[in-house]
Amino acid sequence: MQGENSTPEGMEKWRDWKWQMRNTIHSVDTVEKIFDIKLDKEQRALIEETIEKFPMAITPYYLSLVDPEDPWSDPVFKQAFPDRKELYVAKTDMEDPLHEDKDSPVPGVTHRYPDRVLLHVSNTCAMYCRHCTRKRKVGDRDSIPSREQIQEGLDYIRNTPVIRDVLLSGGDPFLLSDEYLDWILTEVSKIPHVEVIRIGTRTPVVLPYRITDGLVEVLKKHENLWINTHFNHPREITSSSKKALKKLWSSGIPLGNQSVLLADINDCPRIMKELVHQLVRNRVRPYYLYQCDLSEGLEHFRTSIGKGIEIMESLRGHTSGFAVPTYVVDAPGGGGKIPVGPNYLISWSTNKAILRNFEGVITTYQEPTEYKHNLCDLNCDKCTLQLKLEGADEEQAIGIQRLLSDYDDMITLTPSSLEKRKEGRWEEYKTNEDI
Ligand SMILES: *Cc1c(COP(=O)(O)O)cnc(C)c1O
Ligand code: SF4
Repeated sequence: MQGENSTPEGMEKWRDWKWQMRNTIHSVDTVEKIFDIKLDKEQRALIEETIEKFPMAITPYYLSLVDPEDPWSDPVFKQAFPDRKELYVAKTDMEDPLHEDKDSPVPGVTHRYPDRVLLHVSNTCAMYCRHCTRKRKVGDRDSIPSREQIQEGLDYIRNTPVIRDVLLSGGDPFLLSDEYLDWILTEVSKIPHVEVIRIGTRTPVVLPYRITDGLVEVLKKHENLWINTHFNHPREITSSSKKALKKLWSSGIPLGNQSVLLADINDCPRIMKELVHQLVRNRVRPYYLYQCDLSEGLEHFRTSIGKGIEIMESLRGHTSGFAVPTYVVDAPGGGGKIPVGPNYLISWSTNKAILRNFEGVITTYQEPTEYKHNLCDLNCDKCTLQLKLEGADEEQAIGIQRLLSDYDDMITLTPSSLEKRKEGRWEEYKTNEDI
């Protein structure tokens, strides 16, 4: 590989994303050759077994970022090369921890939050991340979304006016051809109630040459488009990935990043700080830091939540506010993303809030003596605040928001399993898994 990209023609091929895809590495032999390593028979059998279950695919570009001196402890290698530990199924692992299938009104659509949906448009990726939460889906031939399936998803969005935000997801949407992606984006854009379109892609990290002028021409047509990428380690930010990011931001597309907290890869405040600094230098806003999910085969990547909170503690206040992502746990059982972090509000009385800052300074915020809460009955015409939006929506409060609202008299939220217990339906209570 090294030899091939040292000539101008070699370099041109190297920078062609289709060449990268054609030369994607699927075999252990190739990896052994490149790094001059030799797995023993037993190790090899286990790796082969792992690949049977969860396919391996690594772009030559991404593999070239690995330090050949020490591949085994390399953060890039660990995200790309299978580990026999993936075969271990922990008692707490789940096939579909995020209930992406259960919350699916039509195949390929996940509708969990009131106003936004995931639309799965592809099930392949340039590189199969070993820590992927959709491991059991990506690369699986049976779950390639057909054009008909995407049509059906589009129909669902068209017929569901509460949806104002559509996330194209996968797999990786950027593995589709420019023309196909153009068709999907155009169809979504035509739906009047869709205000925002987002694309989640790892190509700037694992296949930056995919961000071609042609692709950018397609993306540029959509002024309400946001892109989220997936950098996990500062070593992934290279001159090629910077160029790819620049193509995107210079055409006006806002960029965000979602990282996953991974044991022995990036579970370190210094690594994370360096990562977020490099991201903002390249105009990418750190959006989420995910706690690793309970999907099968990910046990060895999981950290404690405490580690994530420690990282958040080391960022907030210590660096630019917009370099700090939100740390979230995607609730097992399909509860959605739950933000967690250090506590800054340490006590409270009727007239004072006691807060602490990032340095440990404890301070008092005196509450106003004369604050008059605007009692809200949703009657905006009579309110002293001016909303005055044409056709402003009647709001239906849900969750904790409902407990706080003045216009709804609900005072307790009770998990449905508890309701069953109260009604004496003990059997159901014990077996009920949805809270
Ligand atoms: C993450 C996610 C979204 C988007 O959530 P935001 O917090 O708006 O980024 C939407 N739907 C599903 C199912 C998700 O998992
Ligand atoms: S790019 Fe995303 S969907 Fe694809 S393998 Fe990686 S984490 Fe999974």
